[in-house]
Amino acid sequence: MKLCEKIRVIYGKEFGKYPQCNCVLIGKSCLIDSGAETVKEMKVETILNSHWHEDHIAMNKIADIVYIHELDRDAVVSYEEFERRYGIGEFARLFVNFEFCDTVETFDDGDVFKFEGVEVEVIHTPGHSAGHCCFLLDGKILYLGDVDLTPFGPWYGCLDCDVSDFVKSIEKLEKMADDVYYAVPAHGKVVSEGLVEKLKNYKRIIIDRDTKIKELVARGENPVGKGIIYRRFPEPKEIYEHFEKIMVEKHLTASLNSKNF
Ligand SMILES: [Zn+2]
Repeated sequence: MKLCEKIRVIYGKEFGKYPQCNCVLIGKSCLIDSGAETVKEMKVETILNSHWHEDHIAMNKIADIVYIHELDRDAVVSYEEFERRYGIGEFARLFVNFEFCDTVETFDDGDVFKFEGVEVEVIHTPGHSAGHCCFLLDGKILYLGDVDLTPFGPWYGCLDCDVSDFVKSIEKLEKMADDVYYAVPAHGKVVSEGLVEKLKNYKRIIIDRDTKIKELVARGENPVGKGIIYRRFPEPKEIYEHFEKIMVEKHLTASLNSKNF
């Protein structure tokens, strides 16, 4: 899908349904995320990764050089760090569908790249991962990464996730949203209108979960397995139950400021 002369969305299968993702191609030289299977035959100079998860970095090897936020770099370079952040021991091997490589450079919040005349600004949006970043292209097109606006809602089941950072990151994006023509989530369809509302609804999912989790805890019940996050655990169930447990714990330890909602 062409968004403007030099910027194209490459949808992963079924609009980037996991384990694929949507990518953005700038001219012929830069790709943002690499989890769409169709990019396999391409060759680009540069890949910018939104974060370290396997569905965003799968085809990184098609690039001469890869950039990622410094807080996420270790997890794309070493299996040990990848496994540590998942917190599920050797089960993490199930998610390795890519080759670890050490030719990975880093960027930081506010850094600006230029590819074939297109400016790409790095927006650090932690929460989903410590180094998760969105990218603003020419001030008009926003790559959202896994601030993905899906009905499932925000995901924060790894050890480097942070639910209150996630809320702050969504609010950071809300402030920029009025000037954005297109927002490209890593999963789902391109958004061309109503971005502020969609971000607010996405944030609302966090606070609704928060309310339900704290109500159950107050009644002495365990919130895990009650359908608050996963309606049903996908297979392998023990892994997704673990992720839900981590997400619930993150609610119970975070200082979410409800006046923000
Ligand atoms: Zn992710």
